[in-house]
Amino acid sequence: MQSPFADPVDLRSDTVTKPTPGMREAMARAEVGDDVYDEDPTVHRLQERIAEMLGKEAALFVPSGTMSNQIAVRVHTRPGDEVLLEANCHIYNYEAGAPAVLSHVMCRPIPGRYGVLDVDDLDGMIRPPGEHYAQTRLVCLENTHNRGGGRIFPLENIERICKWAKEHGLRTHLDGARLFNACVATGIPPQRYAEHFDTVSVCFSKGLGAPVGSALCGPRELIQQARRIRKVFGGGMRQAGVIAAAALYALEHHIDRLAEDHANAQLLAQAIREIDGLQLDPPEVHTNIIWFHVRPTVASATQVAQAAKERGVLLGVAGPQTLRACTHLDVDRARVEYAAHVLRAVVAELSGRGTPVELRHDETW
Ligand SMILES: *Cc1c(COP(=O)(O)O)cnc(C)c1O
Repeated sequence: MQSPFADPVDLRSDTVTKPTPGMREAMARAEVGDDVYDEDPTVHRLQERIAEMLGKEAALFVPSGTMSNQIAVRVHTRPGDEVLLEANCHIYNYEAGAPAVLSHVMCRPIPGRYGVLDVDDLDGMIRPPGEHYAQTRLVCLENTHNRGGGRIFPLENIERICKWAKEHGLRTHLDGARLFNACVATGIPPQRYAEHFDTVSVCFSKGLGAPVGSALCGPRELIQQARRIRKVFGGGMRQAGVIAAAALYALEHHIDRLAEDHANAQLLAQAIREIDGLQLDPPEVHTNIIWFHVRPTVASATQVAQAAKERGVLLGVAGPQTLRACTHLDVDRARVEYAAHVLRAVVAELSGRGTPVELRHDETW
């Protein structure tokens, strides 16, 4: 079976998108200055725009979502403080231990339901005052939740948790790497999610399709401190307008179209549901991320990924039996239909239930 597409259908992550011709043109035209001198007009425009979209006073453009989150952790805490976060969240699991390395804080991971917490999960987790104890200082949530399967964090839970946090003198941060996916899927405007948090991080390099960059948004005074910490972390950038222009272009052109990614994810999820030997986990797909398991008697995740790769479809391997697929700007409906077809064929072949499926180029999926 040979892929009808020139390039692999890359579903490993929504970070693999390449800048579109329009985006590259915007980058080429960008007016620039030295942003460490705070003189890059395009970076200024981006920061003002994203702050306004999130209803925050100020924003800071940074190289990555990890840096954005970790600057927030640093801004909100002092060494020895404790951060409450969901056990499968990105900040705790996928940022190389940065809270310990960069901010000398302890993390207290709290198991959620596909990444979602409610006040009852957190109540009682605040340590008492006294010299024996770390000081609980910060609550971090993630929306959409990556390891939770692109899960949308319900607004009511956010409202309850942030209200509770405020009442107890805790700061709050939202890892909104894919906040716009949640907004497009629910119709809830970004500022309605953001208003409950002290700081919010958003990524331009995921579904929005920019090559690089994230922003940390919040009150002016905190963002001023964040700017200094960005320098400490090595994230001060010079003529960053070139990449800020890509992020501005993405905000202008690539938000509404996230709905296409969500529709494509539904299509792939439905195919996976119907394949004996695969299991969606979570069973419902909210946005653009699909996690699924392959039954051990069929194959390992690596075997499935390898067989799919040979047919021009790239999947993420996330555990011995676990795979991840993300839909994004660079995979259109035809490509997702092809990926579904490949999964069907691969699983049938690996489970020895079918002869290898031959694919004709004129076949429609
Ligand atoms: C991708 C991602 C980030 C940031 O990752 P970078 O690779 O550092 O840009 C943060 N949080 C979540 C939930 C993510 O998926």
